[in-house]
Amino acid sequence: MTGELARNYRKLQTALAACAAQSGHPVALLAVSKTHPAARIAECAALGQRAFGENYVQEALAKIAELAPLGLEWHLIGPLQSNKCQAAAEHFDWVQSVDRAKIIPLLAKHRPPHRPPLNVLIQVNIDGEAGKSGCSPEQAAELAARIAAEPRLLLRGLMAIPDPATSGNGLAFAQMQRLFRELHADHPSMDTLSMGMSDDFPAAIAHGATLVRVGSALFGRRNP
Ligand SMILES: *Cc1c(COP(=O)(O)O)cnc(C)c1O
Repeated sequence: MTGELARNYRKLQTALAACAAQSGHPVALLAVSKTHPAARIAECAALGQRAFGENYVQEALAKIAELAPLGLEWHLIGPLQSNKCQAAAEHFDWVQSVDRAKIIPLLAKHRPPHRPPLNVLIQVNIDGEAGKSGCSPEQAAELAARIAAEPRLLLRGLMAIPDPATSGNGLAFAQMQRLFRELHADHPSMDTLSMGMSDDFPAAIAHGATLVRVGSALFGRRNP
């Protein structure tokens, strides 16, 4: 297993470096560790990976506590309910799934004073899929202004999960790139465009992704 993770990691780093060179901008890797135990995350950290993404606050808290001595960086990438905002603000370094106004003051209020401001991405439902998390592209500017007005939050950019069945054509990624540029004009603190997963990261990077979120290509397929 360890050998397989190391092979996957090296292969992924090589592919990311090639995509980054072709696109002319640096690309960082978020290792998506949902459903995988702390021991697997520690193995990955031993290979040099620092940033990990989790979908469920409750599941993540135990891993974050267990792995605290490693000083890893934790990103919440799953939907965030209001009643989980306190735990998210206390224990994560980034929340990538801010998609409505209501949770912004809650995250700000609960960010502990001894920690740096919470890094925040606005999640955009770029292809308007019904029932999916994310604000509409039209709502993003208002959310950005609200986040920017909170001293305990730092607006770092945008996140999207376009439908992988069609994302390879690059249209949704290109729309995200355009939206990112528009908002960046008003919010120079934005430096992160989080998009691209195991099956579509090359297309995402070609359209400006600076952070790709990769799970199965790294840790192997998740058990359902
Ligand atoms: C699970 C997940 C990923 C990783 O998906 P893979 O296809 O396993 O790479 C990325 N982003 C989000 C939001 C996810 O929930």
